[in-house]
Amino acid sequence: MPTTPWQERAATLRIDGRAFIDGERLDARSGARFDCVSPVDGRKLAEVARCDGPDVDAAVGAARAAFEDRRWAGKAPSERKKILVRFADLMLEHRDELALLETLDMGKPIRYSRSVDVQLAQNCIRWYGEAIDKVYDQVAPTGEDSLALITREPVGVVAAIIPWNYPMLMAAWKIGPALAAGNSLVLKPSEKAPLTSLKLADLALEAGVPPGVFNVLPGFGQEAGRALGLHMDVDCIAFTGSTRTGKDIVQMAGQSNLKRAWTELGGKSANIVCADCPDLDAAVAAAIGSIYFNQGESCNAPSRLFVEASIKDAFLDKALRMIPDFAPGDPLDDATVMGAIVDPVQMKTVLGYIESGKSDGARLLAGGRAARVESGGLYIEPTLFDGVEASMRIAREEIFGPVLSVLSFTELDEAVRQANATPYGLAAAVWTSDIGKAIRTSRALRAGTVHVNQYDNDDITVPFGGYKQSGNGRDKSLHAFDKYTELKTTWIQVG
Ligand code: NAD
Repeated sequence: MPTTPWQERAATLRIDGRAFIDGERLDARSGARFDCVSPVDGRKLAEVARCDGPDVDAAVGAARAAFEDRRWAGKAPSERKKILVRFADLMLEHRDELALLETLDMGKPIRYSRSVDVQLAQNCIRWYGEAIDKVYDQVAPTGEDSLALITREPVGVVAAIIPWNYPMLMAAWKIGPALAAGNSLVLKPSEKAPLTSLKLADLALEAGVPPGVFNVLPGFGQEAGRALGLHMDVDCIAFTGSTRTGKDIVQMAGQSNLKRAWTELGGKSANIVCADCPDLDAAVAAAIGSIYFNQGESCNAPSRLFVEASIKDAFLDKALRMIPDFAPGDPLDDATVMGAIVDPVQMKTVLGYIESGKSDGARLLAGGRAARVESGGLYIEPTLFDGVEASMRIAREEIFGPVLSVLSFTELDEAVRQANATPYGLAAAVWTSDIGKAIRTSRALRAGTVHVNQYDNDDITVPFGGYKQSGNGRDKSLHAFDKYTELKTTWIQVG
């Protein structure tokens, strides 16, 4: 029986799992479907269209036709702006439904789906809508006899493939700049969390995005995803997901039409806390809050904590007192701060890493077990290992779960060396009162984002992306337009 207002709403929620192609909700051409199961309680939520090659052909064809007849690209930027702002307004009008779909689909607490995911996603669509009639092209400083224009044009048909950890927000990071710039888009959400992407397509159509401009194909990576990666009529592929799949995406671009391939991939971010940290309580709160937020399923989670040896006991003492606040609860309860793990595969992966930490000799100081088993859902206790060595798997590999690995250091240079000794380079942090040390360390850290004396700041105005095998793309900010536009030079003879 439902016991919270959100559970009551969930019991009556109607979910349409059909694909969205050329402005219409459609079954997969093969008729195939897959079950969408909630990690909250193991309940089947819906049957979802299992799209594959023929559906990809149809969606790419619709996107190409829309691009060629300029029903969207040909609109004045101020017109596209109006429609995208209306789209964002509709997301706010449907805030509760979007939040509920997100929570049921991938398990994050409803308080965050509603206040973080819907809020940031609608803000992203709105921001790019608002931006597009304010960006100017350039005139080159040539001689009098000629005029050279440097202009940006939409790249054409964009395919976006996204993961399941922030499904709506990752979709918005692609939809916002790609549509604002005038492209047509085919979005493939993760098979583990397709529901909000499909709802966004309904809302975009209602807002006035013309049919064919924005298509959503739920399905599996090896089927719909691969067909998009290899498609000869996709001009650009914007991928967010694991480094392993990112490498495949780049290869598929090379094997097919050399489509522009942008990758935003995994991370193993280092958080370095020096003994002269200006506020130890704030450092502990950020370290703990950031690793357990979203059940640890965040690409930029600070999963490696380097603490200077002289303050490690004090740090751990405070951390261990805070950890019980993150005990997993019912994601449909407004009080819950840590929810469910997305699916049994991820659950097994995370528990496997916990076992490897134990067998490699790290000290398990908190958590380490499955929780709320009686719910029928998938939950893991917030877990902390001390005494982690750089060689251990839990210090080297992306776990993507609520597991913090604590390492200690005596020389900052050595901590920085270890922080950089990873194939990843998404985010990093340093805590110190010494401004020179902060600047030197932030320069030395090989990561797309470096935080100094905080970890949580984020804003649509700044780029987000990685160095090294964390990928080559940047989402957010005006820089994201670089991915979805071609740069054209036009020479005009004047004299
Ligand atoms: P994943 O690579 O397994 O899947 C991501 C997407 O790719 C899904 O839609 C999947 O269906 C599709 N896919 C899988 N195999 C494919 C193939 N062969 N061809 C085409 N598409 C394929 O990743 P995931 O488990 O969904 O997501 C977790 C990963 O995403 C983590 O590594 C995380 O760090 C990363 N991530 C990165 C960012 C960022 O901005 N850098 C943001 C969020 C998540």
